[in-house]
Amino acid sequence: MARVDAGALNDIFDNTPGRVEQPVVQCVQIKKIASQESAGPERYRVVFSDTKNYVQTMLATAANHHIHSGALKRGGLLQLLGYQANNVRHKKILIVTDLKCLDEYGELKKLGDPKPLEVNPEEDSESHPTTITSNAFYGNNSSQHQQPMASHAKTPTSSDHANIYPIEGLSPYSHKWTIKARCTNKSDIRTWHNRNGEGKLFSVNLLDESGEIRATGFNDQCDQLYDLFQEGSVYYITSPCKVQIAKKQFSNINNDYELTFERETRVEKAEDQQDVPQVKFHFTRISELASVEKDNTIDVIGILRDVGETSQIISKTTSKPYDKRELTLVDQTGFSVRLTVWGKTASSFDVPPESVVAFKGVKVSDFGGRSLSLLSSGSMTANPDIQEAYKLKGWYSNGGQSENFSTHANVTSTVIGGTRSDPFKTIIEVKDEQLGMSENADWFSVKASIQHIKQASFCYPSCLTEGCNKKVVEIDPGQWRCERCDKNHPKPEYRYILSVNVSDHTGQLWLSCFDDTGRQLIGMTADQLMEIKETNVKKLADILSDANCRTWNFKCKAKMDVFQEEQRQVLSLVAAKSSYTDEIHRVRYQVQAASALNLVAESEKLIALIKQYNID
Ligand SMILES: [Zn+2]
Repeated sequence: MARVDAGALNDIFDNTPGRVEQPVVQCVQIKKIASQESAGPERYRVVFSDTKNYVQTMLATAANHHIHSGALKRGGLLQLLGYQANNVRHKKILIVTDLKCLDEYGELKKLGDPKPLEVNPEEDSESHPTTITSNAFYGNNSSQHQQPMASHAKTPTSSDHANIYPIEGLSPYSHKWTIKARCTNKSDIRTWHNRNGEGKLFSVNLLDESGEIRATGFNDQCDQLYDLFQEGSVYYITSPCKVQIAKKQFSNINNDYELTFERETRVEKAEDQQDVPQVKFHFTRISELASVEKDNTIDVIGILRDVGETSQIISKTTSKPYDKRELTLVDQTGFSVRLTVWGKTASSFDVPPESVVAFKGVKVSDFGGRSLSLLSSGSMTANPDIQEAYKLKGWYSNGGQSENFSTHANVTSTVIGGTRSDPFKTIIEVKDEQLGMSENADWFSVKASIQHIKQASFCYPSCLTEGCNKKVVEIDPGQWRCERCDKNHPKPEYRYILSVNVSDHTGQLWLSCFDDTGRQLIGMTADQLMEIKETNVKKLADILSDANCRTWNFKCKAKMDVFQEEQRQVLSLVAAKSSYTDEIHRVRYQVQAASALNLVAESEKLIALIKQYNID
């Protein structure tokens, strides 16, 4: 006969020294808790008795399988292996994370005459005056600070995961939490160098039933955790871990918060990988891409028809080199599409042609009709274990293979609203239509005259290496250092970065111009102008004022920029500070190209315009 550990439950709540750590108790009641939200996880309330006392327990979802399998029965004996004791609303509640059913003893009648475990009134008012609902313990109300009294775990490393919060429940006010989440995406390690030092980081996207969140590890945490995370695997992540307002410009995850790993953050791979959802796809068929507007994010699945070679390009925005690779996908709709992958996904791509590949988070562009680009926050799964993949395989091997595929190259002209046009706007229209103020860039052309060119910082010293336009710093006389190339140059090449105020009959606008446009507007290279600046400041002012009052057609891109605190002092423009972060946002109008006016063409346009007024 099993020995039931009489008095053990009381000892747990009193944390009596020398108590039985893994007591044997009897199950006297099992009740399913009606979930308030149908989407919520299945929960059970179970009453355990040690023959002297009985106590209500909440079963962690990880232990639900004991009920599903029928092993945990009313009347049965079991051993508590992992649990945590809590006082909730004047009740003692045990959260049970792990137990072992002792089915060999069968179902017994209720043993002894157990009494409920009473909460000592003093103890209750002292330490737990709050009204924590039972739901709060499961994370729905995470603002309550929970004070566990005593806990026991099977092994120190896989210690209690009783306080499993849904990702949705995390906030900067959450203390002591654990999430159980699937890593749906892991970034490459990124490094940075600036005048404050250098560092590295990586981030992961985490998913559970309630939602998604992004987590980032810097420096030491990058070293410690990068190899631990694998895309597709499930992890327990336990605080301390910083929860802060999300920087949404770096992520397309729909969560107001994001996590930053700290030194003490615990990350463990879960033994049970099953009860956390897989990546969810909402596929768009390849033929349907023609009706998707550019810059939308979609999911796509197809047979990998062709894998291109990797090539390296220099990012125009960050001036950093990265790898790209072009893939061709086909599906049952008889269409093919090109999809570009970047960075490590490109360089270490090893999925053989004719495999099924599913992509989550690809951006639609109208380049070459319709093409796709995997976002850094997106993910790729080869041969996913989903029905769609089997359908595609079946189709492909039963004739799909030998079909001829249409591309989207010939549909450009039929797509409405999807092609890039750079409509002519007046300055007031640019402002009234709030171009560039949404997430995506806007493109426009404007005919305007230069009023003023800012003399301060009209150029910057750049690296001499071909293709590298990065700013260099003079570390010693005649030693100009490029961090990216890891190289010193005897002199820099100056490149324009002009701020130009332009106007038309409706208003004024500040435009930024890079080197090519700068040369056009000034009529000489930045190197030449810099030399003049150093020898004859008066002449510099004359040259800049000569460039004034000239009219150009500017092709522009309007986009929201986000500046961190440290960069704020360099801003000279009116900027709006967002209410909850130390970032400021403003729209930058970047000139892509400037062309001199063709007076004949301009006159014809004007004549056509005047005719519309029906003036004889
Ligand atoms: Zn360089």
